[in-house]
Amino acid sequence: MRITFNLETLKMFLYAWDEKLDQKEIKNELIEIVGEGNVSDADFELYAYSRDLSPATPQLASFIVRPKSTEDVKETVKLANKRKIPIYVRGCGCSHWAAWLPIKSGILLDMTSMEKIMEINEENLVAVVEAGCTWFKLMMELGKRKLTYLSSEMGGPAMTIGGSIIKAGGGPYGTCKFGFHGQTDVLGLELVLPTGEIVKTGSWAMPRCIPFRREGLGPDLTGLFIGSEGIFGIATKVALRIRPLPEHEEFLHFEFDSWEDVVRVGDVATREVGDEAAYSLDCSEEASKIGTVSVRIHVFGYNQYALSRRKKLLTKICQKFNGRELDPEIAKNTFSKVVEGLPEIFAAGVWHFAGCGTVPLRELPKYVKVWREIIQKYGFYRNTFGAWAFPRGWTIYVHIAYHEPEERERIISISNEINRRFFENGIVPYGIGGPEGLQPFLKGKLGAYYDLIKKIKQSLDPNNILQPGILVSLNDA
Ligand SMILES: Cc1cc2nc3c(=O)[nH]c(=O)nc-3n(C[C@H](O)[C@H](O)[C@H](O)COP(=O)(O)OP(=O)(O)OC[C@H]3O[C@@H](n4cnc5c(N)ncnc54)[C@H](O)[C@@H]3O)c2cc1C
Repeated sequence: MRITFNLETLKMFLYAWDEKLDQKEIKNELIEIVGEGNVSDADFELYAYSRDLSPATPQLASFIVRPKSTEDVKETVKLANKRKIPIYVRGCGCSHWAAWLPIKSGILLDMTSMEKIMEINEENLVAVVEAGCTWFKLMMELGKRKLTYLSSEMGGPAMTIGGSIIKAGGGPYGTCKFGFHGQTDVLGLELVLPTGEIVKTGSWAMPRCIPFRREGLGPDLTGLFIGSEGIFGIATKVALRIRPLPEHEEFLHFEFDSWEDVVRVGDVATREVGDEAAYSLDCSEEASKIGTVSVRIHVFGYNQYALSRRKKLLTKICQKFNGRELDPEIAKNTFSKVVEGLPEIFAAGVWHFAGCGTVPLRELPKYVKVWREIIQKYGFYRNTFGAWAFPRGWTIYVHIAYHEPEERERIISISNEINRRFFENGIVPYGIGGPEGLQPFLKGKLGAYYDLIKKIKQSLDPNNILQPGILVSLNDA
């Protein structure tokens, strides 16, 4: 399959900005900061970094810069302020709502060279990693010490911890019990602010104090950056709560005919807040098999008694609400892939995600109904509605796979309609990205809340250097 780039349009973006600066001079200044091999303005690299997984128009940066340390990030930010060049920040680039595409060109900061695990403190149960470290790398290291990080996204090897937290992710893995990363597991961040200062949050901010508590002096400033889509600062290090690896685990796999019944299972699984029965609860319905919902459950416990109790409770509740028990190996396989990677989904075609976000526990069937209506209207059955539970709510998504370039426009229409209808119903998205991301669906609808984000942005980033146009546009009324 071939996707055609309009090279002329792409170059126009590059040159529109290039006219204003001495490209060579700036490149040399960047090389002085990060070293020769870590700056590129070669066409092939700019094009390679010009797309995310969304259908947005590819955007060319002027430079790809790969910092190796917090100091490198700080000096790059200072240079950007001096030169008034925008900076866009990219982790592994897997987000799918135009959240880092360099719409105003400038520097694209690739954070993946900052991938060190700085510390695993087995006493305090805290891991400190550089923001470009992936979930997979951390999990593997923790596993060797019989420790784990108990809440992570689908596709661990392909996602940086920094990118995932800055867009407030959460996945099927562990989220049923521990919620999203933003809830409790992020203990603190080290950030470079848009004006170049380095700050730490939580207990880490106190003189001579280590990161061991999310709460610090004053308000929860870690929370300010989680979900900020990178507009308030660049995360350089992350401190995370880790836990002993549970020694016991079990898997359950049930099939249901109705999402109402699945919601009842989700209700029981997350009712005892703080002692949720399921660790992960991952559900899906294939468009080609409407009316059949597969529910995969991961149960864990630090002792066999707790595990047996939870498994019994969940089995009973699934049976009570008409679930048919299937082979648990399939569930085990699903959850191990969440951590180890999902290569086959990309082999199945090009992916578009639509309607991603969170909804309250009881609202789920409403979104399924909308999705079914849309796929029936378009008659496009290569797609899946998915949901995984977190305490008292669901993260939902639709993924649509296509094979042929001719299908692309149709897929975009379907995904636009799903996004529009889901937003009308009140979904909370992971992030909204730029003008070609999900912004248009919320434009003019956020009122004073949007203005507040803009005010914080203006005060932290007076030159509008960091991620201009992402999440908020300062020129918007
Ligand atoms: C197959 C697949 C499965 C997915 N599953 C999930 C899922 O289970 N749950 C979920 O929430 N999402 C999911 N996603 C969406 C997406 O991949 C995740 O959001 C992922 O966390 C993004 O990580 P990344 O390193 O690729 O970040 P990027 O896409 O590179 O960046 C994400 C955002 O964070 C900003 N950013 C990145 N690094 C930094 C930094 N160090 N400092 C400041 N800002 C930064 C970027 O500018 C951008 O706004 C999935 C995507 C795919 C393709």
